[in-house]
Amino acid sequence: MFDGINPPAFAPAEDMPDWVEATFLDRASPVHNPDHAHLAHADIGFLWTTFGNSKKGRRVVGQCETGSPHGTMGKWSRARAEMQVKQWFGHVPDFIITLDADYCRECGDAEFMALVEHELYHAAQDADAFGAPKFSRSTGRPVFVIRGHDVEEFVGVVRRYGADAVGVRAMVDAANQKPEIARVQIAHACGTCQLKVA
Ligand SMILES: [Zn+2]
Repeated sequence: MFDGINPPAFAPAEDMPDWVEATFLDRASPVHNPDHAHLAHADIGFLWTTFGNSKKGRRVVGQCETGSPHGTMGKWSRARAEMQVKQWFGHVPDFIITLDADYCRECGDAEFMALVEHELYHAAQDADAFGAPKFSRSTGRPVFVIRGHDVEEFVGVVRRYGADAVGVRAMVDAANQKPEIARVQIAHACGTCQLKVA
């Protein structure tokens, strides 16, 4: 994607699904994460992009969306978007994760892992009213949705009223522990976070 006269702005990252499987889903992996267990049944299409993206002054380096086109699209727009996705992946995956190829080329291994895991956390299984994981009645497969962040709060509110009052205790406890993988700095943004997540 970085050479040639007219390189594509988007290209399928064909080896990413296997890498995610071997790194995070495989129980034998030293950095296996059981939080992503439902993704063993998910079909995730990964894309590299060299197309610059920033929002509110921050560079966006990753984004997770459902595979089927969303939003208020007309029939032709939807069909056109679906055709493009099928040309990349051969079918419409459950999720599409887009990664900034320039950022991923430059960042360290732990930063890359943290970015990919951040996007994977957005790729969630839906839950019913009692919090139990939802499965499709017709196919038996998990029902996948985009999940928002665990915590969205102002530092000032936590400072004045405490972590328990505003429900960020789990985040504070996690932050106070030594990182399981590595301490990394990621100053850039995820496109999913700043999109409205339902
Ligand atoms: Zn995010």
